[in-house]
Amino acid sequence: MTSTPPFTPATVPTPPAAALPTDSADYLRSRLETTWAGARDGLWDWDVANDALRLSPRWKSLLGYASDEVQDRPEEWFRRVHPRDLDELKRAIDAHLNGRSDELETEFRMLHKDGSWRWILCRGQRHAKQALLAGSVTDVTSLKAAENQVLLEAFHDPLTGLPNKRLFQDRLSLALARRRQRAAQPLAVLYLDLDRFHTVNDSLGVDAGDDLLVEIKGRLTELLRLGDTLGRLGGDKFAVLLDGVGGPREAMHFADDLVAALKRPLVIAGLEVFASASIGIALSKDGKERPEDLLKDAITAMHRAKEDGATPFELFDPQMNSNAKERLQLEADLHHAIERGEFLLHYQPVIALASGDLAGFEALVRWQHPTRGMIRPDHFIPIAEETGLIAPLGSWVLEESCRQMREWKDRFQAARDISIAVNLSARQFENPALVDEIVQCLETAGLEPDSLDLEMTESVVMARTRENAATLQALRDLGIKLLIDDFGTGYSSLASLQSFPLDSLKIDRSFVMGMEFEDGKAEIVRTVLALAKALELEVVAEGIETAESLAILRDLECEHGQGYYFSAPVDGDAAAAWIENPPSF
Ligand code: C2E
Ligand code: MG
Ligand code: MG
Repeated sequence: MTSTPPFTPATVPTPPAAALPTDSADYLRSRLETTWAGARDGLWDWDVANDALRLSPRWKSLLGYASDEVQDRPEEWFRRVHPRDLDELKRAIDAHLNGRSDELETEFRMLHKDGSWRWILCRGQRHAKQALLAGSVTDVTSLKAAENQVLLEAFHDPLTGLPNKRLFQDRLSLALARRRQRAAQPLAVLYLDLDRFHTVNDSLGVDAGDDLLVEIKGRLTELLRLGDTLGRLGGDKFAVLLDGVGGPREAMHFADDLVAALKRPLVIAGLEVFASASIGIALSKDGKERPEDLLKDAITAMHRAKEDGATPFELFDPQMNSNAKERLQLEADLHHAIERGEFLLHYQPVIALASGDLAGFEALVRWQHPTRGMIRPDHFIPIAEETGLIAPLGSWVLEESCRQMREWKDRFQAARDISIAVNLSARQFENPALVDEIVQCLETAGLEPDSLDLEMTESVVMARTRENAATLQALRDLGIKLLIDDFGTGYSSLASLQSFPLDSLKIDRSFVMGMEFEDGKAEIVRTVLALAKALELEVVAEGIETAESLAILRDLECEHGQGYYFSAPVDGDAAAAWIENPPSF
C-alpha cells in the first residue's frame, strides 16, 4: 500500500508567470481589484465632490443585476431606495460627511430586479481629508425578517395573532394621548372573560379550547370598526379598545353586540357549544387616566358582572373599588366563620309532583354574619371555593345534613322515606378522600346511603373526566343518588351524561320561573324532560313559583319539583313542622 504525500505538486498554486513586485502600484491595484470583485458584500466608493460613484459587481448582483445593467451613477443607487427610507439615508450620509457621526451605518430598503424590496445594511467611512466616501452594502432581509418575527411574537398572542397585553396597553396609551391633545371623543375599554372556559378545556381537551378561542376571535373581530383594537390578554381574556365612543350608552350597546355575537352556537370538536362572557367596561373621561388604571377598572367591572350574573356586562363605577375592599373583608371573616359556628342550614322541601307528597329537602347553607346579618350562599360560596375554605365548609354541611335527617327520621314516622339533598362544589371533587369522608359521615349519623342525594353542576361531571367518573361510580355503588344541578346553564356532552352513573337532572330555575308566560321556556323544559326520559333519568324542576307552572310540569310528567310555590328554604324547626303536618298540593 502506498501512502499519498500531503501535497502533490498539482495542489500547490502556481504563481503567475510574471509576478509583479509586491511594492509596486500595479501590484496594490490588482489586489484591490480582486477584493472589489470578490468580496461577499457589495462595495462602493464615491467621490462626492466630483459626483463620481463606483459600484462593485457584487453591489449590483445583490439587486439581481449583471455588471453592465447598472451604471456607476448616484441616481442608480438612490432611485432604487424605498421612498420612505430615502430621507434617512441622505441624512445619515450628510451627517457623516460633515463630521457629525464617526461612521456611516444605516439600513434601508432597495428595490430588487425581481420587484421585491430588500433590506440593505450600508456601512461606510469618509476619507480623512477629501470628500471621499467608501463602504459596503449587505443584504440583511432574512435577518430583518427574523427580527420582525421576534417583535411580532413579543407583541402578539401566537394562537390568535391578536395584540397581546403589552401591545394592547401601548395602543391604549397612544389613544389616551390623542384624546388629551385633541380633546377627541372618549374611548372605552371592554374587558371580556369567558364563562366556564375551563370546562371546555377539561372536557373536550386543550385543542378544542384553542379552537374555541380562535372562533371567538373571529366573532369579535367582525364587530370592530376602523381604529378599534382587539387583544387577547391571557387565557380566556380578551379586551377591546373602542377608539372614540359617544358615551357610556354607545359602549354598552357595543357590549350588547359582543354578547349577541358570542351567543350564536359554535361547533367545536364536532359538538355544539355556547360561549358566553362577562364584560367590564371602563371609559376615559379626559385622557388623563393611566392605561393600566383604565384596564384595571374594566377588570373590576368584569368581576362585578360575573358575580352579579344579572347582566353579562357592567360599566365601571368608582363604588366598585370599595366593593372589592368589602370582598376582601368578607374573605377574612370567612376564615373564622366555621370555628365560630356562624353557618346554619335551611331546608327547601322537594315535592313528588304526581302525588303532591314530600319527597325530601335540599339543604342550603346560610352564613349568620355577626354584623351583616344573613348572607346568601351565592355571596360566599365562590369566595370559599377560591380560598379553599369550601373543604371544611362542605364537610360541615354534609355532617349537619346527615345528622339532621337522622334526627327527623327518628322523630317522625312521615320522614321514613324522605331524603336530603346536599350541594357539592367542584372543588370538593378534587379531594381524593371525598368518598371516604361521605361514608364516614353516613356512619356517624347512622343514615342509610339511599337517604342522601348529592347535587353537582354539569362542570363537575364534565371536568377531570376519569377521576370524577371513578368518584361518581363509587358514590353510586354506595347507593347514594346523584343529581345534576342547574341543568341547562353549563356545557354538557350528551355522551358523558349517558356514560355517567346519574339519577336525576335538576332543571335550572331560570327555565322554570315564568315558563307559563315567557316564550320558549316551556319548550326548553319539555325538551329536557324528553332528553331525561331517553337517558332514563328523573327530573326535578327548581323555581316553581306559581300554580300555573306547576300545572304545566305535572302535565309534562316531571317527577319532582321545588320552589317558592311550595315553600322557600326554611330553618330546621319549620322544616320539622312541615314533616309533621304536610300541606297538600
Ligand atoms: P341551587 O343548588 O340551585 O339552589 C337553589 C336555589 O334556588 C336556592 O338559592 C333557593 O333558595 C333558590 N330557590 C328555590 N326556589 C326558588 C324559587 O321558586 N324562585 C327563586 N327565585 N329561587 C328559588 P340559595 O339558597 O341562595 O342557594 C344558591 C346556590 O348556592 C345554590 O343553588 C347552590 O348552588 C349554592 N349552595 C347552597 N348551599 C350550598 C352548599 O352547602 N354547598 C355548596 N357547594 N353550594 C351551596
Ligand atoms: Mg342545588
Ligand atoms: Mg339549582
